[in-house]
Amino acid sequence: MQDEEVTQPETTPTPPFTFKDLNFQPELMEGLNAMGFEKPTPIQQQAIPVIMKDHDLIACAQTGTGKTAAYLLPTINKIIQHPGDYIDTLIIVPTRELAIQIDEALQGFAYYAQVSHIAIYGGTGGISFEQEKKALTQGANIIIATPGRLISHLNMGYVKISELKHLILDEADRMLDMGFSDDLNKIISFLPKKRQSLLFSATMPPKIRDLAKKILHNPEQINISLSKPAEGVLQAAYVVYDNQKTELLKSLLKDKKVASILIFSSTKDKVKEIEKDFKRSGFQISAIHSDLEQDERNEVLRQFKNKNLQTLVATDILSRGIDIDSIGLVINYDVPGDAEDYIHRVGRTARAATTGVALTFINPHDQRKFQKIEELIGYEINKIAIPPHLGEGPVYDPKANAGKPMRGSFGKGKGGGGHKGGGFKSGGSNKSGGYKGGGHHTKH
Ligand code: AMP
Repeated sequence: MQDEEVTQPETTPTPPFTFKDLNFQPELMEGLNAMGFEKPTPIQQQAIPVIMKDHDLIACAQTGTGKTAAYLLPTINKIIQHPGDYIDTLIIVPTRELAIQIDEALQGFAYYAQVSHIAIYGGTGGISFEQEKKALTQGANIIIATPGRLISHLNMGYVKISELKHLILDEADRMLDMGFSDDLNKIISFLPKKRQSLLFSATMPPKIRDLAKKILHNPEQINISLSKPAEGVLQAAYVVYDNQKTELLKSLLKDKKVASILIFSSTKDKVKEIEKDFKRSGFQISAIHSDLEQDERNEVLRQFKNKNLQTLVATDILSRGIDIDSIGLVINYDVPGDAEDYIHRVGRTARAATTGVALTFINPHDQRKFQKIEELIGYEINKIAIPPHLGEGPVYDPKANAGKPMRGSFGKGKGGGGHKGGGFKSGGSNKSGGYKGGGHHTKH
């Protein structure tokens, strides 16, 4: 183990960089664009250069940080550069659900690339076993496997593993907790010694460090701590249909004694529409968006800061870094596309240890996005009932509303059913799909 700072390779940029700066192969960039990925998350900023430089890595990162893409993207890029019918990468995971989820992410990223991949996990019957055997014999490029099932195949001697370049252990702490330690050692005994090894774990207890010592060679270390909204913010959310949002906002703003109210919407058209609509209804409101001249923006902001203007509606240009004291109420008219933006928006209230309220409107389409925010901050946000005069809202069921994973629109969903007074349940992980590639190149 080494504790030095991560050194950056000459061929990869220093953070902060965009995906474009990484010079990924065009097929991979196409996949990224189709998935709507624009900027790398912090773990991606730190891990991708290290992985591209062929260093071993130990990374402390939880689900929700973007860790999967952090190791998949550079791996796919290398396979595009060095194609062939051999197992290049083995990803070992604790559960079948995680194996399927990674395989689905891979399917999105590698949609335009000649990269074959398969998820191999227990609990499936003979036909699946035969398909897995075929993939492992012919050399699917990326294998995502749970330990027990992989060992069954390895013991049979047909797995084309001698040219393996990358070993990735994901959720390593969970694998040890589940008693997979001996299985991991056994699997590693089958692998070529000269390889790149990456270990991802949500926690770093001593047993993980011991495992790292055994299987990693001079690893770089990365530690990603999640940002969270300040303690003083009271957060809640309304589950609504789009056509209920305006009335809901009106009922929230009516007779509010709060000095400063900040409303966020993701698009400038919506921001303009809210400003116009609410002005017409007699509210004291102004807007800030990118179509305004800088002087106009400054003037509106000055009015808001001086408390001459009670309500400001803005796009995310106001969500980061702007210091306005004592905003009592932040309303997210829609769920921000980026979970970090949620934290920034909500961070506009309760600054400097004061208290504040942050309310978010979630339409059926945004439910999955909202669930991802909850995953990132590590807790569920209370869903409250919409006022009865607005009628019934949708059911909160992110899983049902996520729809099938689609190219170019992760988590796009359709409307839910009738909503009974603010009750909610949280959705589980996406378990659809089986394996991809059938053991051979998957070109779409
Ligand atoms: P993970 O931590 O790997 O489970 O990823 C959490 C979620 O963030 C997944 O739904 C990813 O699709 C999404 N995600 C990861 N990286 C990015 C990115 N750079 N831009 C947008 N979404 C991302």
